[in-house]
Amino acid sequence: MPQSKSRNWLCFVLVLTLGTGACAEDSIDEFNGVATEPARLTTNGSQAQPTTSSSSAPATTNIASITSTKPSTTVSNATSTSSVATTTVQPTTTVQPTTTVQSTTTVQPTTTVQPTTTVQPTTTVQPLTTFEPTVDDRENGTESVTAPVAITRYGIPVRVSGATENGWEVFDPCGDLQTVSKIVPIESTEVVIDPGHGGKDSGAIGHGGLKESDVNLRVAIATSQLLKDKGVPTFLTRMSDYYISLDERIALADAAEAKALISIHHNAPASAASKTPGTEVFAQSGDSESARLSGLLHREVFEALMEVEGVRWTSRWDAGALRVLNSRGSDAYRLVRKPETTNALIEVGYHASASEGAFMATDEYVQIVALALATAIETFLTTNDDGTPLNERARIFNPSGGRTICPTVELE
Ligand SMILES: [Zn+2]
Repeated sequence: MPQSKSRNWLCFVLVLTLGTGACAEDSIDEFNGVATEPARLTTNGSQAQPTTSSSSAPATTNIASITSTKPSTTVSNATSTSSVATTTVQPTTTVQPTTTVQSTTTVQPTTTVQPTTTVQPTTTVQPLTTFEPTVDDRENGTESVTAPVAITRYGIPVRVSGATENGWEVFDPCGDLQTVSKIVPIESTEVVIDPGHGGKDSGAIGHGGLKESDVNLRVAIATSQLLKDKGVPTFLTRMSDYYISLDERIALADAAEAKALISIHHNAPASAASKTPGTEVFAQSGDSESARLSGLLHREVFEALMEVEGVRWTSRWDAGALRVLNSRGSDAYRLVRKPETTNALIEVGYHASASEGAFMATDEYVQIVALALATAIETFLTTNDDGTPLNERARIFNPSGGRTICPTVELE
């Protein structure tokens, strides 16, 4: 990983840890120039998102023990054997009424050659919102933390299974159980936003080699921040660039018990030239609320993009809010078919088309689309509006499935 990226990530984590002032001038980060403020985790457990302005950060009391850095997917970084000499200060847990189990402050000076590029936590202050299991947790389950989802110290969203002797048992992005020492529980979520693809799965490749997974994440983060500004607690299924299985995205959304799940994508195949954007939103069959969510997302995004001049759009003839069925009559996309949460999957436009792709690489694009998405989601939550009606005829599509290897993601 290039130095600048590491530094940006470190800043991301520092801001995550210490507050917005920690790294202000570095907040134009690897989200390619989007003036973002890295994610913060606030004391009420909400998953704060990077904001689009540099000065309006609320003065939250930030958790202090989230000090670690990038969520490295360790499979490919074995060559980077930089020696990381760290002094990890484990903070004392002050909330524990019993003293027999918790150790006191321990200082663990380690001088090791790390097999990965993981940078270890350096200094920590008193943790305010991370939770270690209490004695009650260990004996009776997760009594002090009831949140079904949480964020790990590396900023990885996970489902919480329960407390163990060694910490928390959580489901990682592959759906496998891992144990972590600390989590930040997310107590309430109204909206789950799923940035499509990530890690080894880049999705469509657009202008200048820009990955769809990155554009999806930028739009998701900006949308999440706008919703948060409106007082709508949101949760992202991924917050950085790593692989997460489809089933775990679905499980995260359902576990969060949100009112809506929106999966954000940008289309790959070339399509016919069009005077209008080719925005497509896929609804779950037989779910009128999914149809309504899809219709609102389509209306707001399509109308916002229509205002943009100078972009040569492409579109399929049946673009709109629609159902996509396989030849057995089920929803073709698992991410639309399986969630119990009311959901919609949006293909905002054609990232792989040269003109659209160049536009989608800009900050302006991210802001326009994020605002439209946030408006649609808020409208869905607060009104009975329908937006664009669903196409009467469903599209027929049979995806070619197949198992993929899910690389393990370090959680802390
Ligand atoms: Zn996609």
